[in-house]
Amino acid sequence: IPDNHQLHVFLFPVMAQSLIIPMVDVARLFAARGLKSTIITTPLNAMNVSKSVERDRLSGLNINVQIIPFPGVEAGLPEGIECLNEITSPEMMPKFFRAMDMVQEPFEKLLEEHRPDFVVAGMFLTWATESTAKFGIPRFVFHAANFFYLSAKESLRLHKPYETIRTDHTDENSSSLFVIPGLPDKIKMSTAQIPSHSESSNFFVEMKKKISESEVNSYGILVNSFYELEPAYAEHYKIVLGRKAWHIGPISLLNEHAADKAQRGKKSAIDEHYVLKWLDSKEPNSVLYVSFGSVSRVNDNQLLELAMGLESSGCSFIWVVRKIKKDDEERFLPTGFEERVKGRGLIIRDWAPQLLILDHQAVGGFMTHCGWNSVLESISAGVPMITWPMFADQFYNEIFITQVIKMGTPLGPKEHNWLDSKNVSLVKNDKIEMVVSWLMGDGEEAKDMRKRAKEISEMAKKSVEEGGSSYANLTNLIEEMRIYTNK
Ligand code: UDP
Repeated sequence: IPDNHQLHVFLFPVMAQSLIIPMVDVARLFAARGLKSTIITTPLNAMNVSKSVERDRLSGLNINVQIIPFPGVEAGLPEGIECLNEITSPEMMPKFFRAMDMVQEPFEKLLEEHRPDFVVAGMFLTWATESTAKFGIPRFVFHAANFFYLSAKESLRLHKPYETIRTDHTDENSSSLFVIPGLPDKIKMSTAQIPSHSESSNFFVEMKKKISESEVNSYGILVNSFYELEPAYAEHYKIVLGRKAWHIGPISLLNEHAADKAQRGKKSAIDEHYVLKWLDSKEPNSVLYVSFGSVSRVNDNQLLELAMGLESSGCSFIWVVRKIKKDDEERFLPTGFEERVKGRGLIIRDWAPQLLILDHQAVGGFMTHCGWNSVLESISAGVPMITWPMFADQFYNEIFITQVIKMGTPLGPKEHNWLDSKNVSLVKNDKIEMVVSWLMGDGEEAKDMRKRAKEISEMAKKSVEEGGSSYANLTNLIEEMRIYTNK
């Protein structure tokens, strides 16, 4: 494609593993369709981003990495923090986002210099709508989320159904339950599961308001989901709520090579060949993968219950234990645990090659914190889930998994808990054992769930292939940008 006819897209995520990872996938998606993709990142994240696209560049895709300074120290953060995942206290959050806001000026300089044809910026970068407008460049919001969540969130924002009920109960069975108005299904939620009810600071409330506004004012919204997964909600969001949105996922399916699957975000803490060999030695659908994502914290008491539950379930498992700092002590493992589960339990400390694990036929279940990237990766791989949400959109995703697509069973506590997980209610080991044994066992219901998971996974794969719904939607979007820019 001659340079003056090639569309150029800027991709700008907030610096967090789980936001950078899908944005790299989106960059690849556009480049695979002949566009020039430029990923904007900060100095300390640049190496991982460059590594993630190394193979694509070698194979001729036009993907570039552009570095922008990150004013963390100026915003009050300790030296060396450029990623949300390194944040250790809730107080650091607003500072991190202040730093992301301060990037607006250098970002506008880049826009002026490079004049991309359109920009895809993560939902938290609300100012990007205003910046791009200065140059007449369309801005798309990228949501690492599904239509169900986007629709439910809008419903709550517009109708505030929780205001008419008592909010002092956190018990699921109490009067704090309400129905989310106007959705295609009758979905019940409890006030304890909504972030703004348990957040002490106005920061998040304010942030959510800005996100909603910038969604309305942007050119459109890119959604990492596929039509067949949630047709009623895709229609609801686009037609009833009237949002200009494109479904382009599951974008992780573009990682075809084992090496790309093994290296997403960060280098994995374990040799991927070892993990694959370990999985090869297991029966199909016999291993439970346990991971709570890249941000969530689970307190030591809960981890101990989890260890005991996994042990007594008798099931094979891979458990990712996340470390924040290198010297974090592990106080939660029962004495002799690793020795007793040797051969059937594999613990990965820090970063796991998640896609590679989920795609292995030995994996038959995923105990997940319900971060949307993880959930969609599980859906794509046809692996049913045990849900353990903690904050943000994760409770909506739990409802989506267990009530809408019925591809999982709930286990985690029913209250929102963010970074500080000390006061959250404890899930006891016998309950963990019961749920794990149920999902991994050969009862009729579990078998049905596995079957449905495989069917949904087939639909996911078809949607991104030529002729599939996500493929076609992306074609429409690119065509629209060609017309818009006259290229
Ligand atoms: N991930 C990974 N290895 C890990 C933990 C996470 O590869 O040990 C990836 C995972 O595959 C997903 C992303 O990081 O793509 C996590 O995003 P998600 O939305 O699931 O959760 P978050 O980290 O935002 O809570």
